[in-house]
Amino acid sequence: MVLPVRREQHSMAKYICLDCGWIYDESKGFPERGIPPGTTWNELPDDFRCGECEVVKRDTDMWQKIDF
Ligand SMILES: [Zn+2]
Repeated sequence: MVLPVRREQHSMAKYICLDCGWIYDESKGFPERGIPPGTTWNELPDDFRCGECEVVKRDTDMWQKIDF
């Protein structure tokens, strides 16, 4: 059985830090760092850091996109 996909949050993705397992959720953003909900990965600055460790966004090998 396939559940219907809600489309109003189109293509919101999550990215997991492969070093520590922290997840950036585009639909939630990162309000503690001034990143509003709905901010896509591409819109984050290159020096955006993982919420748990020192991995930065530009270390692309350290992040994996999670699609649902
Ligand atoms: Zn991390």
